[in-house]
Amino acid sequence: MKATLAPSSLISLPRHKVSSLRSPSLLLQSQRPSSALMTTTTAASRGSVAVTAAATSSVEALREGIAEFYNETSGLWEEIWGDHMHHGFYDPDSSVQLSDSGHREAQIRMIEESLRFAGVTEEEKKIKRVVDVGCGIGGSSRYIASKFGAECIGITLSPVQAKRANDLATAQSLSHKVSFQVADALEQPFEDGIFDLVWSMESGEHMPDKAKFVKELVRVAAPGGRIIIVTWCHRNLSQGEEALQPWEQNLLDRICKTFYLPAWCSTSDYVDLLQSLSLQDIKCADWSENVAPFWPAVIRTALTWKGLVSLLRSGMKSIKGALTMPLMIEGYKKGVIKFGIITCQKPL
Ligand code: SAH
Repeated sequence: MKATLAPSSLISLPRHKVSSLRSPSLLLQSQRPSSALMTTTTAASRGSVAVTAAATSSVEALREGIAEFYNETSGLWEEIWGDHMHHGFYDPDSSVQLSDSGHREAQIRMIEESLRFAGVTEEEKKIKRVVDVGCGIGGSSRYIASKFGAECIGITLSPVQAKRANDLATAQSLSHKVSFQVADALEQPFEDGIFDLVWSMESGEHMPDKAKFVKELVRVAAPGGRIIIVTWCHRNLSQGEEALQPWEQNLLDRICKTFYLPAWCSTSDYVDLLQSLSLQDIKCADWSENVAPFWPAVIRTALTWKGLVSLLRSGMKSIKGALTMPLMIEGYKKGVIKFGIITCQKPL
């Protein structure tokens, strides 16, 4: 894999932002950085473009970890939660106890709300080609392809997911419209400027280089195309604040280890990146309140007899994942974790 430094041409931001873009928070994994990794990032923050072998191999280790994680856990998720591997969208403060199908509807609603927020629903005839970046087992792709009659290509790091996504497309007679492959979001196997909609639903949090991630999304978008990023973020830093509080970072680090996440960034970091690339109609929102019922529901399901048996059968990664879920709830409650949507349009 090539070096993962953010190209300096991408960045025309205030000084403290530039350093944060080149620091581990947007660049490298935070899974307890080794001292070699620390050396690399310190060098990077001094402006050096040298990336050590340790940093490169740590990015590769992250990719492998993500692939193995989803290879192992996707079957269990599908069995219990169906083909959407993302939060549901709920009315804030809704106290109604939903059934399983209610939660699945909330996951579909997440897709609909995201499209609506980005203004895509009014332009649906223009959506002919879609890329689903970090596609899971293809739930979004099949939904969007059916809704718009569009062609959709999904990419994931997990071969198990790509195969399952293709099998489901065949089973649903959609294989002429949608297809899935193993590919890296940071080096997408696509030409420039070909997708009317670039969709990333809960995959951005896995990307070790947010600047490169965004640059790739923009590269493959067609002129006038829409980009939608729905992702886990940390809270925006206040004016003058350089980093999260140590206890906040500690909480996120514990989540990172289990879910194979690199360092997090904020929604305003994404907005800054998009602005630096002169994207248009940049919008973002904090949907943390709208997703609040989700993790408690996943935990309740995991604690049923069926859930527990499936968890045990699925293996250690799933079990560790289940044990980490309460940390997600804590992160939202304490305002450290934010569920963000960021959208924009590529200029014509
Ligand atoms: N968007 C899907 C799945 C979300 S799970 C859904 O909503 O159902 C996160 C997905 O991101 C997984 O499929 C994982 O393989 C993918 N992913 C993480 N890092 C990636 C990368 N660098 N390149 C491609 N896919 C990646």
